[in-house]
Amino acid sequence: MKLLEYEGKDVFARYGIPLQKRCGVIKIGDSLDKLDLSGKGPWVVKAQVLAGGRGKAGGVKLAKTAAEARELAGKMLGMKMITHQTQGKSLTVEEVLVDEACDIGREIYISVVLDRKAGAPSIIASAEGGMSIEELAHTHPEKIIRVPVDAEAGLLDYQARQLAFDLNIPKKNFCDFTDFAKSLVKVFVDNDASLVEVNPLVITGDERLIAIDSKIVTDDNALFRHKDQAARPDHEASEIEKEAKAIGINHIGLDGDIGCMVNGAGLAMATLDTVKMAGGDAANFLDVGGGANVDQVTKAFQIILKDPKVKAILVNIFGGIMKCDNIAAGVVEASKKVQIKMPLIVRLEGTRVKEGKEILAKSGLKLEQADSLWEAAQKAVAAAKR
Ligand code: ADP
Ligand code: MG
Repeated sequence: MKLLEYEGKDVFARYGIPLQKRCGVIKIGDSLDKLDLSGKGPWVVKAQVLAGGRGKAGGVKLAKTAAEARELAGKMLGMKMITHQTQGKSLTVEEVLVDEACDIGREIYISVVLDRKAGAPSIIASAEGGMSIEELAHTHPEKIIRVPVDAEAGLLDYQARQLAFDLNIPKKNFCDFTDFAKSLVKVFVDNDASLVEVNPLVITGDERLIAIDSKIVTDDNALFRHKDQAARPDHEASEIEKEAKAIGINHIGLDGDIGCMVNGAGLAMATLDTVKMAGGDAANFLDVGGGANVDQVTKAFQIILKDPKVKAILVNIFGGIMKCDNIAAGVVEASKKVQIKMPLIVRLEGTRVKEGKEILAKSGLKLEQADSLWEAAQKAVAAAKR
């Protein structure tokens, strides 16, 4: 799950990471009076969307007076934003954060990522912050520092000190920096994150060290041990994805027009590949789970049919512990309940497949059966094009 900047900063605050004073977060429909602009300013008004590069896209604005801050915040709410990280999609700004602005002396890049090669978290840092780290990695890879960290022990003192030397942290901020770097690793480990990024970490004109941006991505598979995270709204999932999640179905929306219903994530991936090879595009990745009983199959049909892009449905189910005749009975019953008006292609394989196919054939349902995944994919692609 990706956290918004202010949600990430709430986490940082719990770990004592130094931040600028917050003046408030407003949502669409909120009164602008919710903002506490009693300080002397200036302020920075920041669009809360799940993408970086907001600065260049008009999502970070400086305000010199309280009136200006209020006006900018009002204008930013509801604004559509495209940044270099949104893959051409526009995001609506539903929340705006207003922080006190600081006088920036130096910008530093620092993040903790999961380094799969090292099998450990790693700090990635560069004395040149503020700019895109991807760009820097490309043009000046030698300017990027990597420090692998032991997840159990955390960042060790000598590692934190070496990093501070490598980043040319001034004497005055040295201890603040080493504390900060250790806390950042702690945020990463404690929250089961896959990314914790501060870009930029700033040394202000009056020599304070401050994290002025935050990006945290946590691992959904660890949500069960983070009740606070699980309760947080998922800003990224579509309505269909949220509904599927609530009933225990793993669904990810895609751009194509063939709705897929498959049991098991591996088989679902293979189905997407096969549809692509047959010249089509799947509308979704959908794993009904191990059970694949009438209830789950009915719910899965309902979820697939909510997507207006879907022109044909491909059911690809392997009967292992669940036998094919039970699954076929489930498909028949479910398709009666939800009334599928578009072409339905079913491929069953596994235990008691003969009996399963017979049930489908005798059901009177308008569906096409296939003996292999390849045949099923071809039939589905042809049906979607009709
Ligand atoms: P993004 O990474 O999405 O572009 P940032 O939060 O990093 O957004 O902000 C972009 C730039 O705006 C920063 O590099 C910094 O120069 C400026 N900025 C952001 N927050 C503040 C702040 N509190 N005070 C002063 N400048 C800021
Ligand atoms: Mg940033």
